[in-house]
Amino acid sequence: MNSRDSEHIIAQLTEKEGYETTDDMPSADLILINTCSVREKPVSKLFSELGVFNKKKKEGAKIGVCGCTASHLGEEIIKRAPYVNFVLGARNVSKITEVLHKDKAVEVDINYDESEFAFDDFRTSPYKAFINISIGCDKACTYCIVPKTRGDEISIPDALILREAKRAVDNGAKEVFLLGQNVNNYGRRFSGEHEKVNFSELLRRLSKIDKLERIRFTSPHPFHMDDEFIEEFASNPKICKSMHMPLQSGSTKVLKDMKRGYTKEWFLDRVEKLRSMCPEVSISTDIIVAFPGESDEDFEDTLDVMRKVRFDQIFSFKYSPRPETEAEHFTNVVDEDVASFRLTTLQNLHTDILDEKNAAQLSKTYRVYFEDLNKDYFVSGRSDNNLVIKVKGSDELLGKFKDVKITTIGRTIFTGEVVG
Ligand code: SAH
Ligand code: SF4
Repeated sequence: MNSRDSEHIIAQLTEKEGYETTDDMPSADLILINTCSVREKPVSKLFSELGVFNKKKKEGAKIGVCGCTASHLGEEIIKRAPYVNFVLGARNVSKITEVLHKDKAVEVDINYDESEFAFDDFRTSPYKAFINISIGCDKACTYCIVPKTRGDEISIPDALILREAKRAVDNGAKEVFLLGQNVNNYGRRFSGEHEKVNFSELLRRLSKIDKLERIRFTSPHPFHMDDEFIEEFASNPKICKSMHMPLQSGSTKVLKDMKRGYTKEWFLDRVEKLRSMCPEVSISTDIIVAFPGESDEDFEDTLDVMRKVRFDQIFSFKYSPRPETEAEHFTNVVDEDVASFRLTTLQNLHTDILDEKNAAQLSKTYRVYFEDLNKDYFVSGRSDNNLVIKVKGSDELLGKFKDVKITTIGRTIFTGEVVG
């Protein structure tokens, strides 16, 4: 989502203000840093990065801080780093051309509604188009700062999404990647009058776009994984068979403390339904260890879900207390060394699972959509079920689909040869 926000900002600046992008920071007229605030570490990193930018920037260059940390710290950023020229919140991206011209501007209103704003187009990749389908988040997970930085959830009208997707496809993209904090809650609230369209219906409408071959999305919420959604996912051939199912914890008690709205049993039931309808699906997840009050038994439940589901990919983190969240005030904090031990245990278990799963991939053939030209004459892309596969080749493969047979197993990247 941050990457897409950056693309929106770049589009506004190139179309309306005549800027061009550069990788050479000391020669830039404008330096923007787009920030995350989900965990504490990126926030502290922001100020050290800003110090470096200030030292290395050329005379008169402006510095702007954008994104979720901008939303949550607001003016505080300028107080701590007075050379920052403006602060632009995650929900105020469309105002980039305004703040640019007001020194010390701080635009961080999380009630600002830009769900119908027509952003100009800029895409980092011509092959795959990220498309926002909603802004904000209506949930209140007790650990999470996102509702405080991105505001309430508003769905973007489907006509705008379809228009954006068609434009991307006309420009050569064969894949769209839909983005939202709870994509499968799409349609819950629009800003203006709008017919009832849920996520499954949006997927059906998008898949009617000729020449659009692949649809991916993130993040769906396990709570909203009803049968209609899973059936659409399984039966629609344009939807890539890779599902992100953010578990957070395998313990029903911890899930309740997190206010996630589902139980361990519901999560396992949804996985079973998904796998029974779509056996080839790959499943990834997010897990937080050492949430306040997480006992050894609770953690064992997380390991149990891991053993049962055998996730294809995990993003795992130690709980990080965040300001303005409910859990910030929870006092039953887990010791740091216990937290580290649990994270390592979880990650080691996953590595073992992955090694077993990956070994079974040797000699299998997947249809790969090539997107990246790597150094050393390799081109890489993804299979429908999200394996990253590289082959020897040139830029001629980019934007094409090929059948690839896997010849070497890696932990996260496989090597193969084109067979058709
Ligand atoms: N809307 C998505 C998540 C967005 S935040 C969802 O509900 O799944 C991305 C991930 O960051 C979360 O899934 C969670 O695993 C992690 N995260 C969020 N807040 C956190 C915190 N306070 N400490 C540690 N990890 C956190
Ligand atoms: Fe945060 Fe929960 Fe919303 Fe995801 S659903 S963004 S974890 S509050």
